[in-house]
Amino acid sequence: KKELLKVKDLKQYFPIKGGMLGRTVNHVKAVDGVSFTVYEGETVSIVGESGCGKSTTGRAILRLDEPTAGEVEFDGQDLLSLSKFEMRKKRKDLQIIFQDPYASINPRQTVRQVLEEAMEIQNVVPRSERGQKIRELMETVGLGAHQADRFPHEFSGGQRQRIGIARALSVDPKLIICDEAVSALDVSIQAQVINLLKKLQRDFQLTYLFISHDLGVVRHISDRVIVMYLGRIVEIGDKTSVFDNPQHPYTKALLSAIPVPDPGKKNDRIILKGDVPSPINPPEGCRFHTRCPFATDLCKTDTPELRAEHYMKDGHMAACHYMDEIESGKRKPNY
Ligand code: SF4
Ligand code: MG
Repeated sequence: KKELLKVKDLKQYFPIKGGMLGRTVNHVKAVDGVSFTVYEGETVSIVGESGCGKSTTGRAILRLDEPTAGEVEFDGQDLLSLSKFEMRKKRKDLQIIFQDPYASINPRQTVRQVLEEAMEIQNVVPRSERGQKIRELMETVGLGAHQADRFPHEFSGGQRQRIGIARALSVDPKLIICDEAVSALDVSIQAQVINLLKKLQRDFQLTYLFISHDLGVVRHISDRVIVMYLGRIVEIGDKTSVFDNPQHPYTKALLSAIPVPDPGKKNDRIILKGDVPSPINPPEGCRFHTRCPFATDLCKTDTPELRAEHYMKDGHMAACHYMDEIESGKRKPNY
């Protein structure tokens, strides 16, 4: 397996201005030391509640917002050392699809113009071949070549997301970051778009970083899963390993909130107290301790690192001091 994307200790702190002079008085630590690798051809999902830093991570990788610190290596190249101009060129290889494609599509352009513009910016297809390429793209995303001269508002939500996908594909990318790309769609349309993404992955050897709060969708599309809480990764691993044998109490809580497809499977329901704390002054120690039913005094001071226990599958890691004791039932929740 080839490493396509390597993120190391990524941080994204947004300044908060205050006072009469508008000085920086504090920071929102939206992403605070995130490391992971994405291999060629796989789908890695980042899940978590809103505000956990998952979208911010995606934007920082593409430098849509310049990250505060860390490393981002793509296909052997250090992205953070590129000039702004070089980075724009690089976006040929790394595309992003958003939740609302309409917001990023000019409503006065036909689909043809949208696709032509994308190819023009990256200069990927000779002008004389663009008409043919557009016909192919329209067929590829299931819209039909005859629809190319229509305007975005003439399409449904699901069709507009297909236009967004066609635009991303028009420059032949290697990696596509899908940021809540199907979240706004009806469930039946969602399934169609996910199946399309899977087919395109096979046909064009695409790699996906799939950002979503929707665990049902994530279960369907991912090879591996990253769970984030308050700017940090709390669990990472193969999808089946994480879904069938979650180790972090936060992951357990997220999963116990969705219906279990196999009723015979154990589902130790974990109920969370309170809300996600502010990322301005996140809790010391384990950031989850204010809501965790297993928390001890140690959790308030010592930060747990991602690690594996002997019974966990290869590559599956979680950041909790007590996962073996919770797993064996020795440690009970204190409700
Ligand atoms: Fe809960 Fe402590 Fe584990 Fe954090 S380290 S998840 S607070 S038990
Ligand atoms: Mg988001």
